[in-house]
Amino acid sequence: MTNLKEPSFRESVDLMFNRAVALMDLPPGLEEKIRVCNATYTVRFGVRLRGQIHTFTGYRSVHSEHMEPVKGGIRYAMGVNQDEVEALAALMTYKCALVEAPFGGSKGGLRIDPREYEEHELELITRRFAYELAKRDLIHPSQNVPAPDMGTGEREMAWIADQYKRMNTTDINAVACVTGKPQNAGGIAGRVEATGRGVQYALQEFFRHPEDIKAAGLKGTLEGKRVIVQGLGNVGFHAAKFLSQEDDAIITGIIERDGALFNPDGLDVDAVRAWIMKHDGVTGYPDASHHADGATVLEEDCDILIPAALEGVINMSNAKRIKAPLIIEAANGPVTAGADDILRQKGTVIIPDMYANAGGVTVSYFEWVKNLSHIRFGRMQRRQEEARHQLVVDELERLDRYLGDAWSMTPQFKDKYLRGADELELVRSGLDDTMRIAYQSMREVWHSRKDVDDLRTAAYLVSIGKVAASYRAKGL
Ligand code: NAD
Repeated sequence: MTNLKEPSFRESVDLMFNRAVALMDLPPGLEEKIRVCNATYTVRFGVRLRGQIHTFTGYRSVHSEHMEPVKGGIRYAMGVNQDEVEALAALMTYKCALVEAPFGGSKGGLRIDPREYEEHELELITRRFAYELAKRDLIHPSQNVPAPDMGTGEREMAWIADQYKRMNTTDINAVACVTGKPQNAGGIAGRVEATGRGVQYALQEFFRHPEDIKAAGLKGTLEGKRVIVQGLGNVGFHAAKFLSQEDDAIITGIIERDGALFNPDGLDVDAVRAWIMKHDGVTGYPDASHHADGATVLEEDCDILIPAALEGVINMSNAKRIKAPLIIEAANGPVTAGADDILRQKGTVIIPDMYANAGGVTVSYFEWVKNLSHIRFGRMQRRQEEARHQLVVDELERLDRYLGDAWSMTPQFKDKYLRGADELELVRSGLDDTMRIAYQSMREVWHSRKDVDDLRTAAYLVSIGKVAASYRAKGL
C-alpha cells in the first residue's frame, strides 16, 4: 500500500481489516457484512448550566450484533466524531472476539472537554446523555453495555448505572447496564487498573517466547528494558506502574499533553502521577528533563514504546524516525495504517491494540457476569478452599515434626497456601489467562502462515474468523 494521504482512523481500521480478509476465504458478501458499522446514533441535547442552555453532541455506534449485548466505552473528548466512534466500535468487535468476551462491538462518545466543567455539571450532562441513550436501548444490560474510556471513569459509570435504574425501576439486572462502576455501586475488584494490568500481562507473555523476543531484536526479560509511555492516564499510569514496580522495567520517558519528561535512569511513576494531579501537567517536575514538544520523545531510543493516550500519534510523518523495536498499542489506533506499513518494513514488532488493551473489556466481562449472578466471585468457595488447604498443611506439619531438622516447610508457604483466593486474585487470574491464550492464538498464526508477517494481521485473522463463524452459525 502506498497511500500518500494519511488515512482517517476509520479508514485505517478498514485498511487493516482488508489486508487480513484478503488472506481469508470468506463466503461472498460476508466480508462486507462484518466490516460495516451496523448503526450510529447521533444525539444533540441541551443542559441548563450557568444560567443558559448548553447543547452537546454525543454518539453511540453499534458495529456488530453477532453477539449481544454489544460493548464498548464512552469517551469524553473534544475530538469525538462519527468517524472515531465507528472506528472504535469496529475495534471493539474484533477485540471481544479475540479475547473471547461474548459481546458485539460498540462505542460512544460525547464532544466535551470534561476539565471545563464542575463535578455537578458533569453529573447533569452525563445523566442526560445516559437518558438519551437508555431510552433507545443503547444502554441496556442485555443489549448495549458501555464502560469507561478516555475522559470517563468510575464516577461517570456510577451516574449512568443510577440513571438507568431510575428509568427501569423493576429491572433486577439494572446494575449490569454498564461496567467500570465503583465497587460500592456494583463494580468489581481490579477493574480500574484492568487495561494497564492487561498491557503488563501482554508484555509478560510476549517475553515468554524467545522467537518473538528475537523478532523484535531484543534479548532477555522485561527487567531493565527502557520504556517510553505516552499518556499517564488510567491505562498508561497503571501499565507504567506495574511494569516498573513489578517487572523492573525502567520508565525513561513519559509524554503528556504539556510536553514530555525524560530521564535515562528511570522516572518514579507514582511521583509523576502525583505531580500531574497537583499541577495539571508534567511541566516543572523536578527529576527529569522537560521537552516542550512531547511528541518528539516518541522518537527517542528505547526498547518498548507504549502509546497510551490517543489515536494517530504514530503516523506517516514520524513513523520512519521511531526507534523502538517493540511497540505495544495500549491506546486504540495509535499507529495509522500508513505508519503500520512503514514500521512493518523496518521490522518493528507491534503488539496490536485489539489485543494489547483488551484487559479492560475482559474485566468488564467479569463485572457484567458478577452483576447478573448477583454474587461476588469467591464468596461461596473461599473458606471451603481454605479448609481443604488446612488439611494439607496439618499433614505437612506432622511430617515436619516427624522429620525434625531433615526437612521443614519453606517460610511463608503456610500463609500463602492457606489463603483462599479473593475476588481480586480471581480477576487477575482470569485476566492473565485471557491475555496468555489470546496472545498464543495470534502468535500461532503469525509463525505458522508464510503470508502473515505481523501480529496485527494475525489478530485480525483470528478475530474475523470467530465473527464469521458466529454469523455462519446464525444462518447469515
Ligand atoms: P485517560 O483519559 O484516563 O488518559 C489519557 C491520558 O492521555 C491523560 O493523562 C491525558 O492527559 C493524556 N493525553 C491526552 N492527549 C495527549 C497528547 N496529545 N499527548 C500526550 N498525552 C495526552 O484515558 P484512558 O482511559 O487511559 O485511555 C487511553 C487510551 O486507552 C484510549 O485510546 C482509550 O480508548 C484506550 N483504552 C482505554 C481503556 C480503559 O479501560 N480506560 C480500555 C481500552 C482502551
